[in-house]
Amino acid sequence: MGKFGAWLLNFMQGRYGFDQFGRALSVVVVVIWIISIIIGVFSNLFGIWAALISTILNWIGLIVLAFMLFRIFSRNFERRRAENEWYLRRSSKSNQSKDIYNSGDAQASPGTEDGYKYLSCAFCGQQMRVPAGKGKIAVKCPSCGEKTIVSS
Ligand SMILES: [Zn+2]
Repeated sequence: MGKFGAWLLNFMQGRYGFDQFGRALSVVVVVIWIISIIIGVFSNLFGIWAALISTILNWIGLIVLAFMLFRIFSRNFERRRAENEWYLRRSSKSNQSKDIYNSGDAQASPGTEDGYKYLSCAFCGQQMRVPAGKGKIAVKCPSCGEKTIVSS
């Protein structure tokens, strides 16, 4: 590891870093900038408004990027984790709402029935049972009511 690597490791000590929300923000930045570039390239066709919209999108992308970097270097772990959980809850609601499983009787002992997978809730740790082999599914926790995406 070089000098820069050591410096970076030291610098990142006690800082939050990347999470699912951070990854989503980086995708948002890229998408906004791609749209901005496309509109900018064709601004001759679209007229004066295209150049303005392209510039505004550029700035929005920059602001989202700044927020993403701010989260990575943040020392406020609690706040960042809360943001990430908020994001996870939102995305699981919008993408998978048609496929929600109620995890059923939580007290069933693991391994007794075939065709089920046992896991614990990411929010409260409650034991849950889900049908196995269904791929990625949304599960509603019987204890806290939160929905999580799991692979079964
Ligand atoms: Zn729960």
